[in-house]
Amino acid sequence: MSRSGKPPAAAPPASFAFRLSLLILGLVVALLILFLLILAGNKDQAGTDSLLASPATETDSALTTAVTPAATEDPNRLILSNLTPTPAASGEWLATWPAASSVETLHDSSALLASLQGRSQTSQALQGVTVFVDPGHGGRDSGAVYPQESPYEAIEKDVNLAVGQKLQAALEALGANVILTRTDDSWVSVYSRVAKVGETILNQVTDSLENTDKDLSQFESLKKAMTDIQTTNLDEGGGGILGGLGTSADARLLYDIERQFPEYLFISLHCNYSEAGSDIGGLQIYYVDNAYNYEFTRESTTEGYELPPVYQYFNDAGRTKLVESLQAAIIRQLPELTTTGGPQTVLQDGFVVLNRMGIDSALVEMGFFSNTDDRALLLSDSGQSELAQALAQAVYNYYCQ
Ligand SMILES: [Zn+2]
Repeated sequence: MSRSGKPPAAAPPASFAFRLSLLILGLVVALLILFLLILAGNKDQAGTDSLLASPATETDSALTTAVTPAATEDPNRLILSNLTPTPAASGEWLATWPAASSVETLHDSSALLASLQGRSQTSQALQGVTVFVDPGHGGRDSGAVYPQESPYEAIEKDVNLAVGQKLQAALEALGANVILTRTDDSWVSVYSRVAKVGETILNQVTDSLENTDKDLSQFESLKKAMTDIQTTNLDEGGGGILGGLGTSADARLLYDIERQFPEYLFISLHCNYSEAGSDIGGLQIYYVDNAYNYEFTRESTTEGYELPPVYQYFNDAGRTKLVESLQAAIIRQLPELTTTGGPQTVLQDGFVVLNRMGIDSALVEMGFFSNTDDRALLLSDSGQSELAQALAQAVYNYYCQ
């Protein structure tokens, strides 16, 4: 329908009644403005409505200053309000979030983690653990292929899914709960995959606090953001609060909540390809720690670039342990995947599935399609099964040893 369908109403004569109604309207507007001003004043006093508190005035330049969260005045509020961003150090232009939680403890896994330690490798070993298994690419995005022209002998998205499904079975055989980020040849954006993690953990938080007095309204808007990202399902421009460089206050809150769930892991599965020749082969594992997250953001911007503060509260110890567990278990099972031809085995890069979630995550490049031996292993049923067994073993070692 056209917006100009109706002709404009004729102007009424400036009668006394008209002037009176103008006066009344003016009074109503003035009262409304007064009311809004009072409301705004109260908000500032409470100080807890805005997640992005006013800029800090201290000149604290340490990137990883730990701020001890103070108790909130309202016991039902969950979001801590006293954690302002740390301003950029001298000569730098990136502010950082403190290496401290912006939310009070909503979930305590310490008893579960302690009980996992030393468990024997039975069908109950990983009970209580949830692993997001993420077969990279899918649908219109094939990932790496071999040869470079069709007909293809090897298509990355298919190998990733095959290993992912075998890994699901191997982890479930150890008692773990497994969530695949895709179960068929469909295209799922990386932001959707990350939002799936957020959605799952937020649901667990709100379910567990449902019958308490806690104010869960902030989590409803975060949940909606996770749904929107999955509905949009776009890599370009579909990141919502997870998109762009730097970390918005809402994304920070999400990561801080996720970080309270160390019994969740995210493992992304990929296959490699090198233009530099068939000599290059073997396993490569990527992760992101706090120092790298800062460096990556710094290198992706130029001085003076304004963006939200950089997140600095990833669990470095957990992420490092995960990568070491994966590397050790895979090379033990498949020593032929030791890297050859120069590439490092453990690397860092700014992949969305690594730097946009608060749980520990790793991206495993299981071998090179451009390397004959790697390709044969990746395409064989037995090679895929051995990879899956080794990945599951790594998760067991991570929690139980
Ligand atoms: Zn890939």
